[in-house]
Formats: sequence, structure tokens, C-alpha cells
Amino acid sequence: MASFLLHGIPVSRGIAIGRAHLLTPAALDVKHYLVADDQVENEVRRLQDAIAAVHRNLQELWTDLPKDAPTELGAFIDVHALILSDPMVSEAPLDIIRARHYNAEWALVTQIDDLSAQFDEIEDEYLRERKHDIQQVAERVLKVLTGTALNVPPIVVDEDQPPPQMIVVAHDISPADMLAFRDRDGGPRSFIGFVTDVGGQNSHTAIVARSLDIPAVVGMDQASRLVEQDDWVIVDGDAGVVICNPSQLVLEQYRERQAALAKARKRLLKLKKTPAVTQDGTAITLLANIELPDDCPAALEAGASGVGLFRSEFLFMGRGAQALRIPGEDEQFEQYRKAVLAMKGRPVTIRTLDVGADKPLDQTDQTALNPALGLRAIRYCLAEPQMFLTQLRAILRASAFGKVRILIPMLAHAFEIDQTLNMIEQAKAQLRAENIKFDEGIEVGAMIEIPAAALALPLFVRRMDFLSIGTNDLIQYLLAIDRVDYEVAHLYNPLHPAVLQLIASTIATGHKAGLDVAVCGEMAGDVKLTRLLLGMGLREFSMHPAQLLAVKQEILNTDLGAVTTRTRRILRAMEPGEIASAVEQLQAL
Ligand code: PEP
Ligand code: MG
Repeated sequence: MASFLLHGIPVSRGIAIGRAHLLTPAALDVKHYLVADDQVENEVRRLQDAIAAVHRNLQELWTDLPKDAPTELGAFIDVHALILSDPMVSEAPLDIIRARHYNAEWALVTQIDDLSAQFDEIEDEYLRERKHDIQQVAERVLKVLTGTALNVPPIVVDEDQPPPQMIVVAHDISPADMLAFRDRDGGPRSFIGFVTDVGGQNSHTAIVARSLDIPAVVGMDQASRLVEQDDWVIVDGDAGVVICNPSQLVLEQYRERQAALAKARKRLLKLKKTPAVTQDGTAITLLANIELPDDCPAALEAGASGVGLFRSEFLFMGRGAQALRIPGEDEQFEQYRKAVLAMKGRPVTIRTLDVGADKPLDQTDQTALNPALGLRAIRYCLAEPQMFLTQLRAILRASAFGKVRILIPMLAHAFEIDQTLNMIEQAKAQLRAENIKFDEGIEVGAMIEIPAAALALPLFVRRMDFLSIGTNDLIQYLLAIDRVDYEVAHLYNPLHPAVLQLIASTIATGHKAGLDVAVCGEMAGDVKLTRLLLGMGLREFSMHPAQLLAVKQEILNTDLGAVTTRTRRILRAMEPGEIASAVEQLQAL
């Protein structure tokens, strides 16, 4: 097998070595999990039952055909029944379940994708088009399977067996799909790396990969076409390199590096209880970014002093066509309370729904002409007041169980702030009238992530209790770079002088008004920028837990006085080369 190397954008650090697991868009729509040894035959039966049910269903369709139905309809049902009886469709997926321990849906989609690829090679156009019939038949079976999904036993990898370690290779993976690859609580990891053709450094897919702490490289352009199922793959999430079918020598070198990284991580763990103070004794607050309440243990494990950003939209995403697509008040309340209780008295900053752009509620919601500039985040919430009120009530109810703060994304206009605060008052009034407890003094903060907000900060400091700078979007909108588009990823530069000046002035203006100012964008978790942000006056960093201890180590080694003086100089510089080398020198101080 030929060995080859591909370059992309490194988005989540570390090294993963495993077998390629290729995912097509269809495969992404189904659940993926591995079944334990003693569950394999149950899973086989589940698929057999589903196939039998579709057979019966086709039979019924046949008998119920009206007399005047066009003859093609009967023929069409016949073709589907024939396809369903073909061993390539009805038997081969069973073999996959037995051999690879895939769940039924995953095994079926894997086989159908394989068949579809074979059909693509056929020259005869009529035959080639039969591929769609096969896919439709598979969809029928999948519908039955997912309809009975609730009966699926909670299956995990057989605990006595080391899990097969897989690297997911796909053209694209949505943030919600990415979350589905999270391994079950405390279980061994099966998905250990991600490689995608598209995506950028700060796309939400990349952010989720980082929060799962799994090495990932995106923007590889052709990876999903060049890498083959079960190829050996090394993902170097530091260098942004993917090596397919590496030689023994390369493999050994990477294994050594992997071991060294693991050792370094272990050393960092010793800092968990050490207070985050600079050398001159200035205390710095380190908070965690989370997607779901289940991330709280990792936040505590990293020694976070609270949650600085709970991206609540992940509770709303990927719920498909369920009638209850938007979680109701009680369901949301349970989730928020779960996070609050898990953080054991530490503050939890819940950001209200930030859907849209690269976080659609589901894959069918992508109709906006330019979603990043469209009806996303607070704009969407204010356009759907009932849904927004439901979320606000749920958050307020959770505030009776611990310290909660509300964070509002994507504000730009004074009237948006005022409307939002009014809605919060409305939610409070409703709860009061119903005698439901909540924290009357709950703090409300704004994400500063639209340049207009940063430039008109007095509008915010007058109305808000705290600020949190969303550098991911701030950079996207300031530099006019789509954070998801890998073709412009090289232009996405946190060190652009305009970016640095806007961040610095936001911190200074916010502090002057007596407000806490955090950075919760990805810059906060980048150790190369820790000293620069400290030098700008930042005292509150919120990041994915996996980066927290490395940032703390940087803080412990920082001489704040020296860094502040140098940063002032950097903020006066305009030339990119000068800024980049001065930032490097800051690190060497
Ligand atoms: C940001 O924009 O920096 C941010 C933290 O929010 P998100 O990445 O979820 O848009
Ligand atoms: Mg944002």
C-alpha cells in the first residue's frame, strides 16, 4: 500500500494513530456505536426484523394498490422487493455486524455506500441509476430501525476488549454529528481522530473536536477521496499533517512522540489545584467552555473555577424531524440544573441559543443566503419570542440551584439589548407570579463579537453586568473571513493589528466601567497568545477544558509587568512581521 502525506489545517492538538473509518454524508445521518460481544446476535436479529418488516410493508403496498394504479408502480414495488431479497443487501450487513460489531444502522449504511460506489463504476446508465433504488430500500429499512431505536439495549464496547481505534475521515462533519462521536461516559475511546476535507480553524466542528480533546485536521481538500476504508492513518493535530499507510519507521517515530506528549500531559495534571497567579501575584480566572452538561466533569478535572461559556445550542441541535425538535422548558431546565449542580457552587455562564451559520438547528435549515450574516443567535431568538422566553425561564429556574449568569450572543444594537433585557424581566415576572424560585440578582452579560459592539461599547457597559469577547466571530466579521471556509482560512489572523486593537480597547473600556471582561473565543485557549492577552489586561479566560492547564502553566511563568510593557508596544505596531516576532518574543520572556 502506498504511503502518502496530506497537509491541512491543524485544529485539535495531539497525535492519533488508527484505522481510517470513512463516512459518507448518508452514513453521518445514523447512529454509530459498537456492540458488545454478547449483543452481536441481538443486533443481527434487529436488522433481520427490520428487513422482514419492510418486506411485509412492500407486500401490503402491493395488495393495496388501487386497480387503476399505473403499472410502473407495481413494477417499482417489485424492484424494491427484489433488491431487499438480494444477499448483498439482506445478508452482507449482517456479516458486517458480526465482523466489526457495528450497530445495525451503521452496518447497513456501510454496505449500501459500498454498493453505491460499485454502481458508480457501471457504464450502462440505466443500471447505474438503480443505485437510487438501493438507497431508497435502505432508507425504508433505516426508518424501521430508527423507529424501534428506543428498544436498543444500551450497548457499549466490550469492556474486556481494547476498543478498535478509528480515525473518522469525512468530507465534512457538522458540529452536532461530531458530538455523536463522543464516547459513552467513561468508556474506552473508539474514535480517536478526525480528518475532514473542508472546515476552518474556528469552525464549530473544529471547536467540538478540541472540546472532545481528539486530534483533528480539517481543510484537507481530498482526504475523503484518497484515504481508503481501514487504511492505517496518523493524524498529527499539531502540524496539520495526515500520513496514510506510514512506513514502520515513521510509525515508530510518531509512537515516541505520542508517548512524550502523554508524559507532558501527566506533568500538567499536577497543576490542577495550583492557583492561577502570575509571578507578581495577580490572580487570573480560568473558566471552561462546555457544549453539554456532561462536559462539566472534564471542566472540574482541569481545575476550572466555573463555566465561562455553555453553548446551549447543542441541546437544540441534531434533533432531526422529532415533533419536539426544540427542547421544552422542563427538559432545558433539567439540563441547566445538571450543569449547575455538577459545577458544585462554581458559576455557570449559560449562553442563550446561538443557532444559525455553521450551527443550523438541523441540516435542512440552511436556506439563508448568507447564514453568518443572517438570522442567527439573538436575532433568531428575538424573532421567536416564545421560544426565547421558554429558554430564559428554564435558565432562571436553574439559577435557584447555584450561581448562574446569562450571556447573550451577537448583540450589536441598543434596541436588541433593551428588548433582550425586557424579555428577561418578562420571564422573571412570570416566574414570580407562579411562585417559582430563581436568583433575582442574576447577572446578564453580552458577547462582544460583532465589531460594531466593540466600537460602541458604552452602549453595552451601561446596560450589562459583564462582557465576554467572542474572538472567533469578532475576527470573522472584522476581517470578513468565513470561519468555516478553508479557502480563506489563511486570512483568519488573530494577530491582525485591527483585531488586537479592538480586543485591547474592549478590555480597557469594560474594566474602566467596572465590568468583568472575559475572552471566551478560541484565542483564550491558545498558549501562544496567553501572555499577549495578559498584557492587554485580560484577567478572565474561558476555554475548552483540555487547554486549561497548559494556559495555567503559561500564567504561572508570566512576569506581568514586563509583558504589559511589551504588549503596549505590540499594540502600536502595524507590520505583521513585527507583530508576529514580538509576540514570539513575549513567549520567550
Ligand atoms: C466566539 O464567537 O468567539 C464564541 C465564543 O462563540 P462561538 O464560537 O460559539 O460562535
Ligand atoms: Mg460567536
